[in-house]
Amino acid sequence: MTYSAANGCLEGKTILITGAGDGIGRQASLTYAAHGATVILLGRTTSKLEAVYDEITHQGSPEPAIVPMDLASAQPLEMQEMTDVILEKYTKLDGVLHNAAILGDRVPVEHYDMNTWLRVMQVNLNAVCIMTRILMPVLRLAPSASVIFTSSGVGTMPRAYWGAYSVSKYALEGYAKLLADEMQNTSDIRFNILNPGGTRTRMRAAAFPTENPMTLKTADELMPLYLYLMNDDSLSEQGQTFTPDWLA
Ligand code: NAP
Repeated sequence: MTYSAANGCLEGKTILITGAGDGIGRQASLTYAAHGATVILLGRTTSKLEAVYDEITHQGSPEPAIVPMDLASAQPLEMQEMTDVILEKYTKLDGVLHNAAILGDRVPVEHYDMNTWLRVMQVNLNAVCIMTRILMPVLRLAPSASVIFTSSGVGTMPRAYWGAYSVSKYALEGYAKLLADEMQNTSDIRFNILNPGGTRTRMRAAAFPTENPMTLKTADELMPLYLYLMNDDSLSEQGQTFTPDWLA
């Protein structure tokens, strides 16, 4: 499908992006802001978030906000405090792009380091589930909120040696579908899954060190899909999984 989002399609919307300092999250933040959104940039490296902040203000988009937060250690209270600030400053939240994730080890489960396992499950799954739960009241205040969960090919179909990353993404897809089922008749929030596929980022290079990155699509090429799921053109999508094939 060829899709082109309308200019200004996100005007008046406030969108939270996790892992906003690098890779796909950075590109999505710049793109959402360029389409009129006020973006809340969440990540663990403040200097990266500040660089994205500067790019957004430089391109003349609405002033973003920065939330330094390490999802490996963030407690529900910290997420609640962020939610309280969102309510006070923006009165509602129109979208969340759950994008931050870590790779962990790629070894047989028998050899997996259990502290790494716990950290991957915390960042990729538990923090996402808990944050979504805590943000629910401010998402309900928006007329048509969109929540996007970022999965992976090894989340749709678990794959040997991908350990906690694969399991976390598989469970995340389950969580997204559970929420879609649970809330489709009782809220205006939609929950969908986006698997970006192989994309030229730091994480991909770490996962496939011998691959030529120039053979991969860039995060920028994915943006029509990221825009579709975040703006009101996708109001009828609920509990669906999207891949870049959608753009083909
Ligand atoms: P990336 O370049 O590694 O960027 C990940 C972002 O998440 C970074 O900004 C990172 O912050 C942040 N992050 C990691 N741990 C965090 C933590 N504990 N707390 C807060 N932020 C944290 O990865 P990417 O390739 O853009 O991946 C984005 C999403 O797409 C992920 O969910 C990934 O699983 C998924 N995905 C990617 C591909 C691919 O080929 N790239 C394929 C399938 C799925 P720092 O920069 O500070 O480390």
